[in-house]
Amino acid sequence: QAQRAYNFNAGPSALPLAVLEKAQQELVDFKGTGMSVMELSHRSAAYEQVHNQAIASLKELMGIPEEYHVLFLQGGASTQFAMIPMNFLPQGKKAGYVVTGSWSEKALKEAKMFGDTYTIASTKETNHNRIPKLDELAYEENTAYVHVTSNNTIFGTEWFTFPDTGDLPLIADMSSDILSHPIDASKFAMIYAGAQKNLGPSGVTVAIVRPDMLERANENVPTMLRYDTHVKNNSLYNTPPTFGIYMLGLVLEWAKEQGGLAGIEKMNREKAALIYDAIDQSEGFYKGHAEKDSRSLMNITFRLASEELEKEFLAEAKQAGFVGLNGHRSVGGCRASTYNAVPYETCKALSEFMINFQKKNA
Ligand code: PMP
Repeated sequence: QAQRAYNFNAGPSALPLAVLEKAQQELVDFKGTGMSVMELSHRSAAYEQVHNQAIASLKELMGIPEEYHVLFLQGGASTQFAMIPMNFLPQGKKAGYVVTGSWSEKALKEAKMFGDTYTIASTKETNHNRIPKLDELAYEENTAYVHVTSNNTIFGTEWFTFPDTGDLPLIADMSSDILSHPIDASKFAMIYAGAQKNLGPSGVTVAIVRPDMLERANENVPTMLRYDTHVKNNSLYNTPPTFGIYMLGLVLEWAKEQGGLAGIEKMNREKAALIYDAIDQSEGFYKGHAEKDSRSLMNITFRLASEELEKEFLAEAKQAGFVGLNGHRSVGGCRASTYNAVPYETCKALSEFMINFQKKNA
């Protein structure tokens, strides 16, 4: 049995052990082809099967309407920050962004390079410790689309109820919570995510696009940066990240075995509760960054009384085998990323460590 770390990395992050073992089994001879998936032509039947199965599995798991396009792109979610306005922000219209953290800020910054934008709401004033209430959101006339970041990886907040934007296309960066709980995919004109948290290894970016978005897309966009290029070619216009897509497919099969997104949400709630309870029952020894009703199930951010104590906590945690607990510099303190593949036992071990550390240091 492999010695697995208590991995709380924010991304790339833990993958299911069963997935890694399956990939290991198939590494040098994939289904009798005499080669690794990495060595297959992306035009071969064996690869095409992997590719199309991954698309079908994602549609099934997320309940994505049949007509939507599922694309496998490269360049990370960061490239989507630019591709979205390049394609979907025409002259004379404005793109609206809800700014709930550093990633939304970055998405907005890219959009500004291509057209008019506005901030629908921002939580910057309180260092992004909450998700805006739906009644704080007001849309201006001539809005091309509304952009939200469904989970704020750095600050540890997450949307559970999305705004009803009516006819305005709703676009969500779901990089850090895709596949973590059921959503109504039909509410979204587009969903995108870098794969390296809940979907698989880094190098694949998933984009899910409603067909009518392509009809209104801008014309003068370079070939590789146009969504319709990838739609027309089933994400095989050029060489896709084949091994990453294969891994993604294995993760999706694993997700089905966990009872789909409902089963996964149940596990995620139990895992997060272990750590949030340790915070809430600490009588202020640990202070959560996010307001309770905005708390992320994926990234749990908390502080201790002083930076000194935080240093000690992190050093002892490291000694005890915990990886990735340092908070991002813009929040400080600690962050435990409890993505789908982080086992319950790993979260249990952290909550016990937290309780013991408090006993020793309170
Ligand atoms: N959006 C969110 C919510 C993220 O967490 C990240 C990465 N941590 C990104 C976008 C950027 O993703 P990438 O590194 O794939 O460009």
